[in-house]
Amino acid sequence: MRKPYTILVVRTGKEALAFSVWPQVVPLLLLLGALTAGVVFYPQAQRQEHERARTRSLEEQALQLQEHLTSLEAQVQSLRQRAGVAHPKALAKPQASGSSVPSDSAQRLQSAQVRLVALATDFTQQVRPELEKVLAEEAARPWGLPLRKMNRLSSHFGGRRNPLGAGYEEHNGLDLSSALGTPVYATAPGLVVEAGWAAGYGNRVVVNHGYGFYTLYGHLSKIYVQTGRSIARDHLLGAVGSTGRSTGSHLHYTIFHHGQAVNPMAYMPPLPLAE
Ligand SMILES: [Zn+2]
Repeated sequence: MRKPYTILVVRTGKEALAFSVWPQVVPLLLLLGALTAGVVFYPQAQRQEHERARTRSLEEQALQLQEHLTSLEAQVQSLRQRAGVAHPKALAKPQASGSSVPSDSAQRLQSAQVRLVALATDFTQQVRPELEKVLAEEAARPWGLPLRKMNRLSSHFGGRRNPLGAGYEEHNGLDLSSALGTPVYATAPGLVVEAGWAAGYGNRVVVNHGYGFYTLYGHLSKIYVQTGRSIARDHLLGAVGSTGRSTGSHLHYTIFHHGQAVNPMAYMPPLPLAE
C-alpha cells in the first residue's frame, strides 16, 4: 500500500494546516477543484460576454437611430421645400463637436435626442403650418369641368372673333357647348357671392373659393343657389341655358385668380373634346 500525501496550507501569521490524503483521492480532489473553478468563474465570463453583447447591441441601435433620423430629416427637408419654407430658422443644433462622429453609443444617443427635438420643433412650428396652408389652398383651387356632359369647346380663352358682330374681343373664359338644362356644378368649395342676372352673362353664379380664386358660370337657364350660401365642390349651381349675350345653349366658365381671368384649361385635365 502507498503512503498518503500530506497537503500543507500555509497561512500568514497563523499555524499551517496539514491534511493527509491517500493517492487514490488526488484525481478526485483535482476534479473537484476544476468543478469549483467552473462554477465560480464560468458565470463571471458569461456575464462579461453578455455585457459586451449588450454594448454592441446598444451601439447598433444608436447607429440605426441616427440613420432613421437622417432619413426623417431629409423627408422633412423635402416637405419644407414643397411647402415653400426655404431655410430653417435658428434651431438648436447638436452641441457635440461639430462634424466629428460621436464615438460611443451614449454620445450617439445624446446627439440623436438633440436632433429629434430639433426635428420635431422644426416640423410642428414651421413645416406643418405651411403645409396645411398649401393643402388648404389646393383644396380651394378650382379643378375640372363644371359639366358632366358637353358637346364641344365652342370658344377658347383669350382673343377671338366677336361672335355677335365685327372685330375681335378678349374672351375671359371657356364656352362649353351643351344641351339646354344640363346640370352645372361648382368646381371647388366656396361661398356664392352672386346669383342672378348680369349684363352680358345673363343668369350667372359667382363663387368665391378663397385664396384669390373666383369662378363664374354664365348664360344659365336656371339658378339653384342663393347669394351667401356655402357650397361644397360639385354642388349643383344651375342649368345650362342661353341667357344674356349668347348665340346658343352653352355654359360660359371663367376662373379669376387675384382679380385676373386665367385660362380654365390650366385647371382641368386635358379635354378629350377640345378642338
Ligand atoms: Zn363665353
